[in-house]
This record gives sequence, C-alpha cells and structure tokens, in this order.
Amino acid sequence: MIIKSSDYAISAVKEEQYPQDNLSEIALAGRSNVGKSSLINSLLGRKNLARTSSQPGKTQTLNFYIVNQDFYLVDVPGYGYAKVSQTQREKFGEMIQDYLETRENLKGLIILVDSRHEPTKSDVAMYNYALVLELPILVVCTKIDKVKKSQQNKVISNLKKNFDLAHDNVSVLTYSSVQKTHVKEVWTWIEQYL
Ligand code: GDP
Repeated sequence: MIIKSSDYAISAVKEEQYPQDNLSEIALAGRSNVGKSSLINSLLGRKNLARTSSQPGKTQTLNFYIVNQDFYLVDVPGYGYAKVSQTQREKFGEMIQDYLETRENLKGLIILVDSRHEPTKSDVAMYNYALVLELPILVVCTKIDKVKKSQQNKVISNLKKNFDLAHDNVSVLTYSSVQKTHVKEVWTWIEQYL
C-alpha cells in the first residue's frame, strides 16, 4: 500500500454520525494501552495522527481516519478498562456493537492483543464475539519488540491456548510499531478486503 494521504475524518458515537461517502472501512479494536494508536500511526507513517494516550479509556468515540481518500481505518474505543463506570461501559459496548453488527461498509476487523501477556478475559470475549460477526479478522500481537527474541516464536502458539484461531476468516501477525515489524503484512491483509 502506498500511502498518499491520511487524515482524521470524523468521530462518531451513533450511526447518523458515521461517514456518508460509502467507502470501505477496516476497524481496529483492543484494550486501552495495547498499542492501537501506535499501530495506526505506524501503518500510516504518521507520528501523531492517532493520539497515543497515557490515560486509559479517554477515547470514547469511533474515530475515522481516511486513507488515500479511498477507505477508512476506524479506531474502536478500548474495551475492558477499569476507570469508567458500569453505565458508561455499557454505553460503549452498545456503541461498539451497533457499529460492528450493522455497518455494511465494514470489511474487516483487526483485534489487537499484547504479545507480552496472556490475553485477558475481555480480549477473549472480544475475539469470540468477533467470530460471530463473520468478518475477516486479523489478530495482531503488539509490542513484539518487548518480547525476548528466544520467546518471540512462541507468542502465536501461546495465543492459541486462549483464541480458537482455526477459522478460514482469521489471520494472525506479530507487530512492532517501534521497529515497524510486519507493517507490510498488515497492509497486504487490509488490501485484500477493501
Ligand atoms: P492505545 O491506548 O491502544 O492507543 O495504545 P498506545 O498506542 O497509546 O500505546 C500505549 C503505550 O505502549 C505507549 O507508551 C506506546 O509508546 C507503547 N507502545 C505501543 N506500541 C508499541 C510497540 O510496538 N513497541 C513498544 N516497545 N511500545 C509500544
């Protein structure tokens, strides 16, 4: 993918606010701090387009980034953080589900998990939920540069203990926003579904 342009387009919490121009969308979901903003920035070769936040739970909207005036990357708010109230959490859940379940422009979902840790309950819940959506899924194991070289090839096999990856619509990659590991591979995956 040659990135000619990338811009923040719009934030939305409900359908009326989603972009109206009928372009394809690829959504990215993961717990706060998993490295989602960093992944978006590194994919697009931008430093600060998606905000890297030290405040978990701050981004509470779907954020649409338009790429090459041709498709959107959609930053789905982080799930499973502790700092928001139960009511707020339910609202996010609804907003996320509305989007993921009804959006026809949505062509694929990237789920981020941290390479260093076992997936949490909310990671597993998100993944199992995503399977039901019957969208192409790419699981990205982030921050692979923080895993010892000798352990790196075990990250995906460990993930299989918690994620049932044996589905035709599911792919897995490790990733580092710092070292730009597998940037090209993520783009190859995205391109096939646009
Ligand atoms: P978000 O909350 O999911 O958007 O996470 P951020 O992108 O803000 O990243 C959370 C923290 O992890 C920040 O301090 C990032 O610098 C760091 N981080 C993100 N990706 C990587 C990575 O690939 N390698 C390393 N070493 N740190 C990362």
